Amino acid sequence: HLKAGFTQHQSTCCYCGVGCGVSIQKDPLGRLHVEGEKGHPVNDGKLCSKGMNLHYTVNDSSDRLLYPEIRYGKNQARKRVSWDQAMERTAAVFKALIKQYGPDSVAFYASGQCLTEEYYVINKLIKGYIGSNNIDTNSRLCMSSAVVGYKLSLGEDSVPVSFEDLDFADVLFVAGANPAWCHPILWRRVEAAKERNPQLKIIVSDPRKTQTCELADIHLQVNPGTDIVLHHAIGRLIIEMGAVDQHFIQQHAEGFEAYRESVFLRTIEEAALICGVSTAAIEQTASFIAGAKAYMSMWTMGLNQSAVGVNKNLSLINLNLITGQIGRPGAGPLSLTGQPNAMGGREVGGLSNLLPAHRDLLNSAHREEVEAFWGVPSGRIASKPGLSATEMFSALEAGTLKAVWIICTNPLTSMPDVHLVEAGLKKAKFVVVQEISNCAETLAYADVVFPAAAWAEKEGTMTNAERRISYLPKLVDAPGEALPDATIICRFAQEMGYAGFNFNQTREIYDEHAQLTAGTHIDISGLNYTILKEKRTVQWPYPSGSKGVGTPRLFTDHHFYTASGKAQIHAVSDENTSEKCSDEYPFILNTGRIRDQWHTMSKTGKVNKLKQHLSESFLEIHPSDAARLGIQEATLVEVKNKRGFVRVKAKLSQNIKPGGVFMPMHWGKIAGRDDNRVNNLTSSLVDPKSKEPDFKFSAVSVQAF
Ligand code: SF4
Repeated sequence: HLKAGFTQHQSTCCYCGVGCGVSIQKDPLGRLHVEGEKGHPVNDGKLCSKGMNLHYTVNDSSDRLLYPEIRYGKNQARKRVSWDQAMERTAAVFKALIKQYGPDSVAFYASGQCLTEEYYVINKLIKGYIGSNNIDTNSRLCMSSAVVGYKLSLGEDSVPVSFEDLDFADVLFVAGANPAWCHPILWRRVEAAKERNPQLKIIVSDPRKTQTCELADIHLQVNPGTDIVLHHAIGRLIIEMGAVDQHFIQQHAEGFEAYRESVFLRTIEEAALICGVSTAAIEQTASFIAGAKAYMSMWTMGLNQSAVGVNKNLSLINLNLITGQIGRPGAGPLSLTGQPNAMGGREVGGLSNLLPAHRDLLNSAHREEVEAFWGVPSGRIASKPGLSATEMFSALEAGTLKAVWIICTNPLTSMPDVHLVEAGLKKAKFVVVQEISNCAETLAYADVVFPAAAWAEKEGTMTNAERRISYLPKLVDAPGEALPDATIICRFAQEMGYAGFNFNQTREIYDEHAQLTAGTHIDISGLNYTILKEKRTVQWPYPSGSKGVGTPRLFTDHHFYTASGKAQIHAVSDENTSEKCSDEYPFILNTGRIRDQWHTMSKTGKVNKLKQHLSESFLEIHPSDAARLGIQEATLVEVKNKRGFVRVKAKLSQNIKPGGVFMPMHWGKIAGRDDNRVNNLTSSLVDPKSKEPDFKFSAVSVQAF
């Protein structure tokens, strides 16, 4: 029942990859009131603490950037200018740099929070018009190991299952994830499934005992970095139990023999010792999976953010493949995305090594297809991958990259070994920051500032972690002169003289993106805004002529997207190549989210209610380590390594293993001080195949300060 003057709308939460539906009432003063959307397939009315407080971030515009600004020299202050002046200046600098140093002298660093249409135009601009592949996003820090894992095992970056499969599974293995805090509404679904069916077996592997473990039948509290050893031991036991699916392996998979050899290299006792868990717990896990009617695995950053992230992904997916647990209800691997639209970015090819619609950048026929579609000259799309996230800032520091355009992300808090990012931005000839918040640390380095519209101030689409696309409407005007990100990019492209950006409406960008997917495995050529608004959400693929609400499950015919049509079981090394601890730096630092904050807190940090759970950063440490070091609860500690230091209060906890410590990822510079910022310490090592950083394993020392 709407009060007089109120209007009713639907949208999607812009925080995590669960993609909850929100029901919004707009009052006569233009303020928004958010509730969970009843009947939505993902959340059916529920929201977590972050989603419930979403409207405060829109209604409070006190911290917003309002006008474009530029400066003409590094020692000058920026001044407010018109959009035309800011565009002219930016285009002039980009043209000059590209002319003098070539297309690879510029780069875009964007975000998994960008809408699909925004990703699309940024990707088209740099790859199709500037002629460089220097676009990467913070999804590199989040999902890229899963992308490569899926490609290598299933042939494409395609999540095969849906959230509804959690209702059908009878065994669920949660590896390196804390969905109770980080994907709360999805975890509510698992809790409900367990309540309906107490026989549902839940196994959690995590070096920390998190809230997720409270629902688990088995918590494998592994030593950091030992996931592959654990997965191999489980695989070995499944083989020994005779529980492999011989028919699936013979008809639909390749690589089993090499895998078999690799998992028999260690005994179960040896594996248990390395992992720091009991043989009985590994055996019980293997027998649950071996006996499952429907087995699902689920993971996030504990596997992805690793120097061996791809191998960790493959070793977990292997357990689904050797048991034939894929392509039917309740069976398959489910990687969770940390960000709301990491999946949409991957659809449009918005990383430095991707092309739109899962085409392969290294495939010349694929490049030509995209060039022809975009109407750009053959050979325009560069054949070599561009710079990844960490490489971009190193290249700025080295002077080989001259300009970076940062969109909707805060690398001075979120990137590993963040002093390298500072050094890169200091050396950059030209920095553009396209942002909503006037608190972003990157602004200190910006030569140009473009104020951007935020959630509910612009329209577009997002895809959640189960391939579910939804339309997000514009409900309020952005403050000041802020513009939607896609509009800013298109205006810049036009200023550069590029022809392919004359979109009159955002829906036209979506239509172009959808048509470029035609004939691919992620074909959504049957979708447009009208259908999305009518159906509310649709799961890809959705080719032209489709009816219904899309495709909940892939590979139901067990035909995979690999060259042979067979799934690939990979034999991988179980070695962890993270940096080693030493006498000087004996602790392993792990980082991650807390329940009520989102990323670098530019939105959730504005909401007082969300600060009540945990209001400041901290170091979680085991009481036995703390006692040895003379540290008590709330003692100020200094955590240090060769890259930097932080000083935060200690939080003593039995939930972390001795030898490990944990800090949240959210805090950056506060009032000019950066000693809360965990990424002062994290390693810039990356997985060689995915280029995803090793956030979860950095060697540090700890002492009372
Ligand atoms: Fe938003 Fe994720 Fe919470 Fe759902 S679970 S309300 S998508 S933050």
